[in-house]
Amino acid sequence: MYGSENKSLSKFLSKNLTELKSNGLYNKIDSLQSSNGPIIKINDKNLINLSSNNYLGLATDDRLKKAEIDATNKYGTGAGAVRTINGTLEVHDILESTIAKFKGTESAIAFQSGFNCNMGAISAVMDKNDAILSDELNHASIIDGCRLCGSKVIRYKHSDMNDLKEKAKLAKESNQYNKIMVITDGVFSMDGDIAKLPEIVEIAQEFDLITYVDDAHGSGVTGNGAGTCKHFGLSDKIDFQIGTLSKAIGVVGGYVAGSKDLIDWLKVRGRPFLFSTSLTPGSAAACTKSINILMKNDYLVNKVWENGNYLKEGLKSLGFNIGKSETPITPCIIGDETKTQLFSKRLLEEGVYAKSIVFPTVPKGSGRVRNMPTASHTKEMLDGALAIYEKVGKELEII
Ligand SMILES: *Cc1c(COP(=O)(O)O)cnc(C)c1O
Repeated sequence: MYGSENKSLSKFLSKNLTELKSNGLYNKIDSLQSSNGPIIKINDKNLINLSSNNYLGLATDDRLKKAEIDATNKYGTGAGAVRTINGTLEVHDILESTIAKFKGTESAIAFQSGFNCNMGAISAVMDKNDAILSDELNHASIIDGCRLCGSKVIRYKHSDMNDLKEKAKLAKESNQYNKIMVITDGVFSMDGDIAKLPEIVEIAQEFDLITYVDDAHGSGVTGNGAGTCKHFGLSDKIDFQIGTLSKAIGVVGGYVAGSKDLIDWLKVRGRPFLFSTSLTPGSAAACTKSINILMKNDYLVNKVWENGNYLKEGLKSLGFNIGKSETPITPCIIGDETKTQLFSKRLLEEGVYAKSIVFPTVPKGSGRVRNMPTASHTKEMLDGALAIYEKVGKELEII
């Protein structure tokens, strides 16, 4: 009675679930009995957490909690409507002007998540008469946003500027498209490498491309916290600066920062802005608090880099391959898929929560355990993690 009523649906579900489970690809979700801080509790066991995007530890910061509670007391738990009806509260306007200041742009618009920001922003501007040059390792929300808008999607090899240039030239000279856009992550989360924005901007200028940078993992970390565009001094050269409020900022939401005209347009054509209820007042106020903390003081940003460098040095001197990361994101590349999964499982048993990432998320044979140190880890926690890495690494004959 509680199964799926429709026969073809139940057949589809049981066939695919069985297949995933028998291939060891079914992801069982462990829920936390604690906040997502540097130490987490799962199944009554405390673990050193190297898997969150809470880079600056702000998700559990008392100042943000207070801002959230105060706004909730004043405005209630829900915004009550979509932004364009009467779900725009003062706290939303304040958040958007704060984001613009933070990013060094004329204006900004906030969405309910980074994911739906990409869904809304790309399709508000691009259509079937346009083309998009997209890095092959771009985030799933960019891929879906590109599909939704109906433009011709031309993938270029990861951070390969010759390939981008060639494809931009072909697209431009074909005279087939009204507009051409180039989209890239600012920081790629699988390897922790930074997009080559100076070259991308140069190519964009040569071939008249709209530039779109999704800096979900860069914002709060690179460019003294202001992100990858700022890191390269290119804040005024990027048309769309996308970010999320759910990683380093520590709350939830997404945004586009850009020119006043662009933001005015997104406020009338960004579909999640028009048809999905706005951020809760508490979230909006907590995000504003978080950004204000970041703009005033670079202590947390320095701390996440310091911890990232400490962990990297430690893993490297133990003999692990940590790839080509340029940010605190530290992959530990094992290679073989099964061994990678076993490695992560053994780390967990010994007290470190660090997720394995394998094909198809990363290329075959480049399975890795990805580590995300944060500003709130102490040296003792990182040393504890390194000792466990050493033990498990030797046990599995990786080092
Ligand atoms: C995490 C991420 C998103 C999604 O952001 P949410 O706010 O979690 O929805 C979008 N783009 C990139 C590049 C991301 O890493």
